[in-house]
Amino acid sequence: MANLIQLNNVYKTYTLGQTKQTVLHDISLTIDAGEFVAIVGPSGNGKSTLLNLLTGIDHPSQGQITVNGSALQQLNEEQLSKWRGANVGIVFQFFQLLPSLSLLQNVLLPMDFIGTLPKRERLERARHLLDLVDLSDQWQQLPSQLSGGQQQRAAIARALANDPQLIVADEPTGNLDAATADDVFALFLRLNQQGKTLVMVTHNDELAASASRKIVIRSGRIHEDQPTSVLTNSGQNH
Ligand code: ADP
Ligand code: MG
Repeated sequence: MANLIQLNNVYKTYTLGQTKQTVLHDISLTIDAGEFVAIVGPSGNGKSTLLNLLTGIDHPSQGQITVNGSALQQLNEEQLSKWRGANVGIVFQFFQLLPSLSLLQNVLLPMDFIGTLPKRERLERARHLLDLVDLSDQWQQLPSQLSGGQQQRAAIARALANDPQLIVADEPTGNLDAATADDVFALFLRLNQQGKTLVMVTHNDELAASASRKIVIRSGRIHEDQPTSVLTNSGQNH
């Protein structure tokens, strides 16, 4: 399997006034295309920071990050946002749908931003993606008219808009009840089986065990990095 994400000796230090806090220490990591990686660890230990670095939302203080062939440190902010729009789908704990836009418009946004498809095909694709996440009847509704699980499924449809190889999710089931969390997780599993690479922070051990690999972050370091016993689309029985 091709190497999709590579981090070499990555550090992240936040500066707040006179105080410096190093929250990631010497992280080196390779993730192959097709993997489903669960990132776990206590709160405040650097998991979200790590995701922000590998999506180019934030920058490492030291070290190199390459994703899908792009060395992120070589891109300026404008190039990074285009790159991110085309290559990464991001799913957040609190969905982050735009409240004044319908589900359809929310899913259209990333496609409008990239502008690859003609307008009519964007509409068709948005409807198709909402159908894929079982929201075909809700396309005209506003996020506030939907349940948490429905909003998160819409956010997943939005993450898929530009057909990215990589989906990154930060505690995507953290704000959902158990049954709804299972549904949303099943959708992620299906996407992985269809070939998407998934990197997901989760507090749910059961869900983490269903990924193909579990990385434990403690105090900003990789504490543990192990395959789980799940058979994934990479074809290896770990
Ligand atoms: P986790 O996702 O594991 O809960 P985070 O990556 O959000 O952890 O945070 C790790 C540490 O970095 C925490 O101590 C947090 O307060 C700090 N931190 C996170 N983001 C920032 C920021 N933008 N500026 C300063 N400190 C931050
Ligand atoms: Mg976090």
